[in-house]
Amino acid sequence: MERYEVVVVGAGPAGALAARAAAELGASTLVLDHRPELGEPVQCGEFLPTTDEISDLFDATELVRTACGVPSNTILRTTRWMHCVSPYGHRFRFPLAGTMVSRRAFDKALAQRAEGAGAELRYPIGVVRVRDGGVELADGRRIAAGAIVGADGPVSTVGRSIGLVPARTMFRMITATVESPLDDAIELHFGGCAPRGYAWLFPRATDANVGLGVAEVPEGTNLDALLDRFAEREHLGRPRERTRWWVPIGDPPDSLVRGNVVLAGDAANLVMATNGGGIPTAMMSGWLAGTAAARHVRDGAPLADYDRAWRAALFEPLERAARIQRFADPYTSHDLLLALGMRYIGGSGLDAMMRLRWPTRLGRN
Ligand SMILES: Cc1cc2nc3c(=O)[nH]c(=O)nc-3n(C[C@H](O)[C@H](O)[C@H](O)COP(=O)(O)OP(=O)(O)OC[C@H]3O[C@@H](n4cnc5c(N)ncnc54)[C@H](O)[C@@H]3O)c2cc1C
Repeated sequence: MERYEVVVVGAGPAGALAARAAAELGASTLVLDHRPELGEPVQCGEFLPTTDEISDLFDATELVRTACGVPSNTILRTTRWMHCVSPYGHRFRFPLAGTMVSRRAFDKALAQRAEGAGAELRYPIGVVRVRDGGVELADGRRIAAGAIVGADGPVSTVGRSIGLVPARTMFRMITATVESPLDDAIELHFGGCAPRGYAWLFPRATDANVGLGVAEVPEGTNLDALLDRFAEREHLGRPRERTRWWVPIGDPPDSLVRGNVVLAGDAANLVMATNGGGIPTAMMSGWLAGTAAARHVRDGAPLADYDRAWRAALFEPLERAARIQRFADPYTSHDLLLALGMRYIGGSGLDAMMRLRWPTRLGRN
């Protein structure tokens, strides 16, 4: 049987960063992905805040700088503003510096960086379960591992295999591209266009990424119909290249370690609940997971070090965001209440929520 010190399942942002960190520390590292082409299909809005903005959300400047760098050849456009649009069209505008990336290029580039550090990348190869401390592949072969990083996204096979499935609501998402006037702002639209979620319009290089996510699809409609209706309302033309996927929203779990396995990224429920972004937290948790896995196999450090590291960097803001999201949720399926609520907290309140903080007018911490 083949054996690696660290086996990473999934070559998305979490897995690529985990593999790079483990390989840089000298661990023999294998990263496996079941996609025939990394980053394809695009199931993402493709927006990332800049590292300065991410450092404003998480008290982890060094980690952000190490893990959240965007390969320059994957950048489509930089953006400076966020607009939150109420159900009746009122626009709240505030600064948010960000980067639109091509996820097709981004996932490939991050995986190449892991390879450059010495990790071995194999795809398309699916992992079907974790067994006896190793992974079992779709073709029945097994690979032994000193430590396993489950970075296999929201429906994590690794997580289910070891009985570590965090409690969450799986938001249903659809994304597509449209022709659109291009600007340096990203837009989130709230209300009936995407009940209990939001619709978005993000400018790419020559077109725009459009999509929406909802906690549940209202009876009598479906994701495509909601997207068509939003595109029509915003005069965007017909959305093409549609894909559907999931975003896990809920509290960050207490622990992401079981046996010789650690979870990172969406597999670990580390999406920011108030804005739905998960790429930066996937990159940071992936880096920490790969680091802990390598130190475990090479120096005998406990894998529980990973829990200490990600909790110190990510837990508090993510847990607060989950509480804010739960507080706001009842308002988000009622247009009038939502519009009044948005007016009440104002642009600064919406800005705070996007930054995983309570709006000042709600007087909480
Ligand atoms: C429609 C949509 C829009 C989004 N927009 C944004 C956005 O604009 N900004 C943002 O920050 N976040 C966004 N997100 C969230 C973001 O995409 C995720 O949080 C992020 O991709 C998580 O990275 P990850 O590496 O944990 O998982 P993933 O990116 O899902 O990567 C998991 C990898 O594991 C592989 N895999 C899965 N199962 C197996 C298996 N059994 N064997 C082998 N390989 C496997 C997959 O092929 C995949 O490559 C969006 C999500 C969706 C669905």
